[in-house]
Amino acid sequence: GEMPRTIVVTGAAGFIGGNLVRHWRAAEPADTIIAIDALTYAGDLRNLAGLEGEIEFAHADIGDEERMLALLGGREIDVVVNLAAESHNSLAVVEPERFFRTNVLGTQVLLDVCRRVGVGRFHHVSTCEVYGDLPLDAAEGFSETSPYRPNTPYSASKAGADHLVRAYHSTYGMPVTISNCANNHGPYQFPEKVLPLFVTNALAGRPLPMYASTRSRREWISVADHCAAIAAIVERGTDGATYHVGTGEEASIEELADLVLDELALPASLKTVVPDRPGHDRRYLLDARRIRQELGWHPAVPFETGIRETIRWYRDHRSWWEPLLSRRLVTEDAWPDHPA
Ligand code: NAD
Repeated sequence: GEMPRTIVVTGAAGFIGGNLVRHWRAAEPADTIIAIDALTYAGDLRNLAGLEGEIEFAHADIGDEERMLALLGGREIDVVVNLAAESHNSLAVVEPERFFRTNVLGTQVLLDVCRRVGVGRFHHVSTCEVYGDLPLDAAEGFSETSPYRPNTPYSASKAGADHLVRAYHSTYGMPVTISNCANNHGPYQFPEKVLPLFVTNALAGRPLPMYASTRSRREWISVADHCAAIAAIVERGTDGATYHVGTGEEASIEELADLVLDELALPASLKTVVPDRPGHDRRYLLDARRIRQELGWHPAVPFETGIRETIRWYRDHRSWWEPLLSRRLVTEDAWPDHPA
């Protein structure tokens, strides 16, 4: 951009938030960055290490109206990127309430504060999971107009948030954009999520738990490419529009486990099959033609190169993830009796 702006990033001490703040700081050194995070079990200030003095950090909950008004009111806010969320599908099965509190009610409070103080753009980050289950043999991915059919409390809470953002645009004319993104990989992802879980388990000689539907597929994107997509949408996206952020690069859960074991030179015998998580979808795939055609964004990191680089990052950053292991709230044996 030309003029220095003020950007608010919520969930800034999380995986994507921390990566986005770094990305934005490097790309737009003149901008003021206000980083907001409630520092739940999943948030960690170490994800913003090295940025002290370069950003403003506020320890606050997006659902706290008074705090949000105090932080956002009385100053010009050009952009808000909402990444604050409960994000772990497995935790949502056993503690759904907190997902609706933050993802739905929290987003509503933040939206309403933004409406009242007036912001240049509210960009909301969502997920491919709101569309629900895509059959393994489907020829096409979900488009921006596919119906929302969430199957888990996590994806239902994300869907609720997306509908609110859309409604604030239609009802109040709030300037908004939404992006739905595929599975991210990269540094600083909390070790409850599948890739860091596989790597940290493997390094400890523990099994890699694959859901029984081992042919389930996920579409992968590097967090760096996701951050570049968010920046492109914020800069050039159409007001009120939704953009899919995907690569078209899919891998089964077993292929992912094989890559981890190959990169770490560990035996295939570490692979183990566990019952599917309740509500488990077979596949997500996004049709991301719109962002490519309209905004000229395209992913730069090829799947295997990126995954292997990510695996090595966890291998080389044990001191980052080791203290996080005991903060995990749920493990895959949360539903051992569920019929797979
Ligand atoms: P994360 O769990 O690593 O980060 C979420 C951050 O939000 C944490 O730092 C947490 O402390 C903070 N937070 C939670 N509740 C809060 C609240 N009430 N107020 C303020 N902060 C709060 O998750 P992530 O993977 O970085 O995901 C960020 C967003 O991106 C989520 O909305 C998620 O749905 C979406 N998304 C993630 C992926 C992925 O693959 N990781 C893919 C698509 C979309």
